Amino acid sequence: MPRREFFYAPPAQIVNDQIELTGDEHTHCAKVLRKVVGDQLTVVDGEGHAFDGEIHAVEKQRTVIRILNRREAVGEPKARLTLAQALPKSNRFDWLVEKGTEIGISEFIPLRCERSETTANASKCKRWRRLALAAMKQSCRSVLPIIESEKSFLEICSAASKFDFALLAEEGSVSVLDELEKYRGKNALGLVIVGPEGGFSETELQAAANSGIQFFSLGRRRLRAETAGLVAATVVLSTLDEL
Ligand code: SAH
Repeated sequence: MPRREFFYAPPAQIVNDQIELTGDEHTHCAKVLRKVVGDQLTVVDGEGHAFDGEIHAVEKQRTVIRILNRREAVGEPKARLTLAQALPKSNRFDWLVEKGTEIGISEFIPLRCERSETTANASKCKRWRRLALAAMKQSCRSVLPIIESEKSFLEICSAASKFDFALLAEEGSVSVLDELEKYRGKNALGLVIVGPEGGFSETELQAAANSGIQFFSLGRRRLRAETAGLVAATVVLSTLDEL
């Protein structure tokens, strides 16, 4: 089968057997890729639904698609992984949102730590949401990862019990991946926490341990924060058999 392009439409634009692409999606489809009536494509709604369809009309402001087939959870891992990560300097979190979406992360939480180097703001969150959307389509996923607003380290600690497992990446700890095998192929909810370039403070580590968060190692080398985020998510998802 030829590689199909993925497009995005919010659920409100998917009615009965018809989908309307508007704005950037319409421009990309009709003007950039020059798709015409009769061309086949796939549209995802960001909530796990994928629709294979055929272009029915190309108008000035919209492309209309007729749905031929519906599929669920296309490109999605069973496990739902949240990455809470201290923001690295400059635009490195952009890279992490893009790559993390490609490998199957479901939620990103910018984390405010004692040694954080930078903070999130509304315009950065908007940019990350745009990057996640493009990466979702590019990687043929059907769920749009959530980009949360910035949370404090203590907020994350108190939320940890809502997850099936909560891990914090810390050099020199042990690997706990064996313990994740019981979640293999299950709809597990997982949390992975990664610190700033300056590391977590003793107070933060103590608070995490008190909240039942388990520390885990990513090997004998010290990784840059954004590398650590991507590697942590990769090893967890692959242990869960999701890669
Ligand atoms: N100077 C810091 C290093 C921080 S690296 C220190 O002494 O801890 C940034 C973050 O990446 C760390 O807080 C940790 O969450 C993660 N990280 C980097 N390398 C790691 C490794 N080998 N194992 C586990 N976590 C690691």
